[in-house]
Amino acid sequence: MTTCNLPTGWEVFEQSLYKGRDTLFCLVRRSDGEKRVYVHGESPFAGGDPFADGALYPLTTEVALDLARVVPWFKPRRIPSDRPSFGFGDRLGSATPGHIRALGKTNVFPILAQQSVRENARTGRTFSEVMASAIFGAFREGYKGGFGADADHLKRVEDALEAADIGYTFFTCDPSEHVVAAEEISGEELRQRFSALSQADELRQEYIDRPFLIPELGELRFTEDALFGAAVKYGKAIEYAAKMYRALSERLPEGFDYEVSVDETDFPTSPLQHLFVARELHRKGVKLTSLAPRFVGAMEKGVDWRGDIDQFKEELHAHAAIARSFGSYRLSLHSGSDKFTLYPLIHQATRGKWHVKTAGTSYLVALEVVARDDPSFFREIMDLSLSVFDAAKKSYYISADPVRIPAIDTVPDDELATLVEKHDSRQVLHVGYGSVLDQFGNRLKRFLASHEEEHYAGLARHLGRHLLGLEVKDEQV
Ligand SMILES: [Zn+2]
Repeated sequence: MTTCNLPTGWEVFEQSLYKGRDTLFCLVRRSDGEKRVYVHGESPFAGGDPFADGALYPLTTEVALDLARVVPWFKPRRIPSDRPSFGFGDRLGSATPGHIRALGKTNVFPILAQQSVRENARTGRTFSEVMASAIFGAFREGYKGGFGADADHLKRVEDALEAADIGYTFFTCDPSEHVVAAEEISGEELRQRFSALSQADELRQEYIDRPFLIPELGELRFTEDALFGAAVKYGKAIEYAAKMYRALSERLPEGFDYEVSVDETDFPTSPLQHLFVARELHRKGVKLTSLAPRFVGAMEKGVDWRGDIDQFKEELHAHAAIARSFGSYRLSLHSGSDKFTLYPLIHQATRGKWHVKTAGTSYLVALEVVARDDPSFFREIMDLSLSVFDAAKKSYYISADPVRIPAIDTVPDDELATLVEKHDSRQVLHVGYGSVLDQFGNRLKRFLASHEEEHYAGLARHLGRHLLGLEVKDEQV
């Protein structure tokens, strides 16, 4: 190309080339792997080093956010209501090109920036940095299909507003601290806890002796105990979710995607409780894009689902019917990595109206590349993950037992990658990411930078399998 003549030692990522009216941008790489944004013509960025007949800019968060201001398809946007959506969490900030390749020709709308406050705390990243990685990944791939940005598992209104100011479009409220384990309370105590709720009388009138006709499901009714259980369990959480929603509505009057997630709680959300939550949120003016109930069975991180599949199917059918009857929001499956058993069921039950979130599985793909290409580094990562396991597992639902993992020195180099697949070692690696990134973050990023294509191919294959399982791959081709 005539307008992008770079000195020797630099190459252009051809797909990244963007021609505006008076400007040309592209992503360029030096032979040592260093990347820059090259701009020829009028530059939207501040600073920059003169280079060839333009200027070079480092891949900073500011440059990424400026890029999103001038190129429409790099600005996060809301989920189109007629497409399923999939969250590609990326803890390392280096997986987006692989995620985009996994999409292939599916109709799935990707959330390319998706990290929770908890993950950011563990990885030392910020909402802006997470968004910048997604923007640069889309830039590199020349991806113009649009994507969303999810500030995940928000437990504080301030965090939601911070993400809103940066340009996030999707807000996942996690009110689980306000969810009460009503299953452990009964009889008189439950009645008293219910009566203490400010809206107790109103709730009685709204729910008792009143049938709720849900199309395709039939009539649902609340007994007193069912109402007490649902209201005590979720009443405070609903109030909190409505409060966060109101704050966001003021900050983003043009609209946003809002999810309420109660997936990380001890007891499953029954269909009747789902109806209660959806109806109460609706009454408080909350417009949901998606709701993540706590489904039955073991929804553990990074491994397939386990439990009573018939019960799961029955409840999923009910959850989906309730979601359709209340504003047609999507059902959201968290800890969605590797839940291959559930994907076709979810696609069918929701008729494509789903959201699936994944995060750790992309980190595990990165570790697989390490296991194959740098065995001693992988052993160090496994050792460290094991040593922090007891503390790291506390905030996750996992069942790994480190005792079942073979001593790492006895595993031959060419079998190390199998540890990434096996249940116990996989989960130990999965939750150890905070400490691993703390200690080895830069080394791991350098390693991945020098194995980019292998890393992206692994991600495209593994996440592509997820989308294939969800029966959407090639659906629109
Ligand atoms: Zn979750």
